[in-house]
Amino acid sequence: MTTTLAGGCLCGAIRYTIAAPVTALRACHCLNCQKASGTGASVNAVVPSDSFRITKGETKKYDDSATASGRTLSRHFCGNCGSPIYSHRNPNPGFVVVRAGSLDEPGNVKIAAHIWTSTARAWDHIDPAAERHPQNMPAPAPKP
Ligand SMILES: [Zn+2]
Ligand SMILES: [Zn+2]
Repeated sequence: MTTTLAGGCLCGAIRYTIAAPVTALRACHCLNCQKASGTGASVNAVVPSDSFRITKGETKKYDDSATASGRTLSRHFCGNCGSPIYSHRNPNPGFVVVRAGSLDEPGNVKIAAHIWTSTARAWDHIDPAAERHPQNMPAPAPKP
């Protein structure tokens, strides 16, 4: 069973692989993701940074410093066709957030959690069965 996933932008200039399983997606309804995506939310696979590799082309990035958290979020996209590809916090916390719609294969995964639902657009559907957070994901419980 292979766990290497592949994806890329609309025009094909950017290609990437993810050498990790994607078992669930996360939707972010923050205002910045709305502007950056042009739609109600960004839907993402959160994967370890070292599993994500750009295999073709070079992304452009926008350092988004107007975040609610105050952290600068680097948003990487294709400079040719504009497709959003992935983003990461600074400093990189060890994971990257890959736009799920850029994956080649849809996969049999669901959106497990919605964050920033407090700013969700009225027309955006949020599965009532999914985990929902009005703002960011709560910090994980400290490891014993
Ligand atoms: Zn492109
Ligand atoms: Zn967001």
